[in-house]
Amino acid sequence: MKVIWNDQIVDRTEVKIDLEDRGYQFADGIYDVVRAYNGKFFTLDEHIDRFFSGMSKIDLEAPFTKAELKERLAELLNVNKVDTGNVYFQITRGIASPRDHVFPEPTVVPPVFTASTTVVPRNEEKMSKGITAAVVPDTRWLHCDIKSISLLGNIMAKHTAHKKGFDEAILHRDGIVTECSSSNMWMVKDGTIYTHPDGNLILPGITKIVLLRAAAKAGIPVIEKEFTLEQLKEADEAFSSSTTIEAMPIVEIDGTAVGTGERGPVVEMLQQFYIKEIEAQCGS
Ligand code: PMP
Repeated sequence: MKVIWNDQIVDRTEVKIDLEDRGYQFADGIYDVVRAYNGKFFTLDEHIDRFFSGMSKIDLEAPFTKAELKERLAELLNVNKVDTGNVYFQITRGIASPRDHVFPEPTVVPPVFTASTTVVPRNEEKMSKGITAAVVPDTRWLHCDIKSISLLGNIMAKHTAHKKGFDEAILHRDGIVTECSSSNMWMVKDGTIYTHPDGNLILPGITKIVLLRAAAKAGIPVIEKEFTLEQLKEADEAFSSSTTIEAMPIVEIDGTAVGTGERGPVVEMLQQFYIKEIEAQCGS
């Protein structure tokens, strides 16, 4: 399998990551995941914009333009002949020796960029059956809008949910639902959709943008406003969203059925709009 290592496409086995890479030692870096359908990227511009915005938030100078990055990722997708799958890409602040919290000058220490692909078909069965979730306290930092490669808080939350036998962790701060460990969180009550507003407590999801557009087209009202665990318990439907899972029904929370305990009509409608968006951008 070929990967991108800085400005080259190489065999995966050729990549060498230094033990003093700041990504390896400090998780000092930014990542993103973009999906491709039928060999074409879906919402690539939005992912690239978020990646650049993340770099700028941590004062990491990009070694390429947005157009150059897009070209390189497209080349990788092509070389690996990915039809439907994911491209993971990340940048770290490079190799700083000796280990020091202070940033090195970018002119002295160039960043390290890598990208790889995985083939992952759409899991239609899961999208129709839905997943289970556990409610877990959100103990992450206060810069959740930055797509940092430091995911320890997210990993610990997901691990807590998995240990109890649930698929996903729904995170809350003092009873306010923020998002899930690796996706945005939504609920439906009396025909209205609710989701946490963007800000420093959640990641501004690209799938969220697509779903907001889908809801507007379908004429379903959306309120981007905080909601509580109590409100979630009374919800008619719950679902989460991300690039890899699209709109995923959550049919059970902490062992209790959400609504009917099956995929609800609102999320099903959003899933159908999502497929139309995919077809419009990537063909069918
Ligand atoms: N929140 C978190 C914590 C995530 O890890 C993700 C997935 N990257 C999302 C939300 C959804 O983002 P997107 O729709 O851009 O994949």
